[in-house]
Amino acid sequence: MNENQLSKRLHYVASYIKKGMKIADIGSDHAYLPCYAIKQGTASFAVAGEIAEGPFQSAKEQVEKVQLGHLIDVRKGDGLEVIGPNEVDCIVIAGMGGPLIAQILENGKEKLDGVSRLVLQPNIGAAHIRRWLLENGWKLIDEHILEEDDKTYEVLAAEKGVLSRPYNSDELLLGPFLLKKKNEAFQKKWLSELRVWQNILNSMDKATDRPETEKKRQELLKKIAIVKEALK
Ligand code: SAM
Repeated sequence: MNENQLSKRLHYVASYIKKGMKIADIGSDHAYLPCYAIKQGTASFAVAGEIAEGPFQSAKEQVEKVQLGHLIDVRKGDGLEVIGPNEVDCIVIAGMGGPLIAQILENGKEKLDGVSRLVLQPNIGAAHIRRWLLENGWKLIDEHILEEDDKTYEVLAAEKGVLSRPYNSDELLLGPFLLKKKNEAFQKKWLSELRVWQNILNSMDKATDRPETEKKRQELLKKIAIVKEALK
């Protein structure tokens, strides 16, 4: 894939960037997302942040190749440490696990003062992000779930704000917006999760009944009940 053939997943991520926004794409890897957002005229400036040397070099090469070095600054560092205070309006973190995305936001909290929008695309564990948003004064403004290459991806967009009531456990797990739409990708993702959880549960039943195992079993049973109800 190259920047001219942006994945469907990254297209959805980019669709949540508002015109003229200055963005930071954290964990940018190949920098396809910032290159696309700048070329489209959506973002006006971008920081591409990367922690690892290989992807950092790959981002630099890509930005040079498309001659966008004056508008995209590739920086090496951990999470939000690559951005200065009030430098960007929008932070994008895509293609990682939900717990890691939530950790990056938590570690860089002081950098979020001037940020008005977060666009987050967890590959797994989106509930960790929804919980972090809830606990830190951000609210979801939209979510989307899509299927690409036989995998499902969730995209979450959030802005600062307090909810009239906190998300309940169904909404935390499945997504308040996704629950309303329950599209094909949603059904596919959760049917597949159900199968995985059922297998774990079956293997647990055979294991010893230690208190930790029982706690895990109860958590799984709760999640299974939530998902089964949603898929009815
Ligand atoms: N964002 C791109 C996308 O969605 O296609 C690339 C996703 S890639 C699977 C995840 C990237 O995040 C890797 O290149 C990894 O080095 C980077 N990464 C992981 N933890 C990071 C952190 N704490 N700070 C910055 N980058 C990080």
